[in-house]
Amino acid sequence: DFSSEYFTMNEEQAVEYAKEKLDYFKPDAVLTCKEIGDGNLNYVFRIVDEKNGDSIILKQAGPVARISDEFKVSPDRNRIESDILKIQYDYAPEYTPKTYQYDPIMNCFAMEDLSDYEIMRAALIKHETFPDFADHITTFMAKTLLLTSDVVMNHKDKKALVKSFINPELCEISEDLVYTEPFYDCERNEVFPTTLPFIEKEIWGDQQLQLETAKLKFEFMTNAQSLIHGDLHTGSVFIKKGSTKVIDPEFAFYGPAGYDIGNVVANLIFAYANGQATITDEKEREQFTSYILNTIKDVVDLFKEKFNTLWNQSEKDLVATYDGFQSYYIDNILMDTAAVTGLELCRRIIGLAKVADITSIEQENARKRAEESCLTAAKQFIINRAVFNSGTDFVNQVKQAF
Ligand code: ADP
Ligand code: MG
Ligand code: MG
Ligand code: MG
Repeated sequence: DFSSEYFTMNEEQAVEYAKEKLDYFKPDAVLTCKEIGDGNLNYVFRIVDEKNGDSIILKQAGPVARISDEFKVSPDRNRIESDILKIQYDYAPEYTPKTYQYDPIMNCFAMEDLSDYEIMRAALIKHETFPDFADHITTFMAKTLLLTSDVVMNHKDKKALVKSFINPELCEISEDLVYTEPFYDCERNEVFPTTLPFIEKEIWGDQQLQLETAKLKFEFMTNAQSLIHGDLHTGSVFIKKGSTKVIDPEFAFYGPAGYDIGNVVANLIFAYANGQATITDEKEREQFTSYILNTIKDVVDLFKEKFNTLWNQSEKDLVATYDGFQSYYIDNILMDTAAVTGLELCRRIIGLAKVADITSIEQENARKRAEESCLTAAKQFIINRAVFNSGTDFVNQVKQAF
């Protein structure tokens, strides 16, 4: 019975659910199901009609995180994810999976099956390249980040959105794992032993850095600028030749726009670090790492360009039209982008949640070098965040640290 009380489904129950609740498959459908979730928090069921070839994805939120039951996370995040996917689909349909029914009792929703796409992180670790990615992701970010902001929205409508996307548990995870724990010797950190002395000296021993992270944490908690995705790493991007889809926005809330852009940039830097460390053929290595650097440059520059164009085309709050305001606003976004790039680099190397780009580097010294280069760049991104104004500024910082 799916109508009275929540429980986490198994594959058989997901098939029953699809038959009973989803208005999607043909009447003569023969359904099979596999749980394909690989994330930290949720169950993802792929349900296939073996007779007619239709398929759908059902994503269900569990009551605790899969990585550790230490994280109690409200299943209401499933409503948030389903709601923000609709908003993102309105603004950027090419880059957002189509969603179907949301169920507040079972805490699940159905969406388009994207099994013909690949998770971008996995593809980048195989050193595949996607020339359109920067173009796609910057359209997605410029639209979702500007069109949900006070610059263009009616302020009362925006406040209603802020309220409906209050996401305290998942925000707390970011506040702890991104903004706090990596910057002191916290028990939950998971440091690669060979890198420990560097971290002790350069991160935990740097009081100036700690102060900057404190300022940034309060900015994250209080700057309700845009409806952000909140978890925009390369594991939340589905990609194939010519097409990109952004998935998994359950961390969404009203926060600093630069949080999303910084996550994209930092995770490209992890791909760069992996390429540097693991590609033995010099020409191949040069090709892959240049692709990544060009993509970082384009992500920053195309974002700026598209954000400005959309700004110029949009009806705005009167004060947003004052001379100098537009460049003040975008400079601030780029400053946050640089800061979050640095924070994400630190937290994935020092903190609890790792990235495979780094952990899959098998050779001990190569991994140490990759980690220390990421952390060296990270410090500069955080401390000198105000001087990063263009794609070239970001790229030069990466080159300098590696
Ligand atoms: P979590 O919130 O647990 O991280 P994700 O939304 O990232 O869950 O999904 C976990 C995995 O499930 C993805 O990495 C992908 O392999 C698969 N998946 C998620 N959504 C889809 C989809 N729409 N189509 C096909 N596979 C999907
Ligand atoms: Mg995920
Ligand atoms: Mg998720
Ligand atoms: Mg600046």
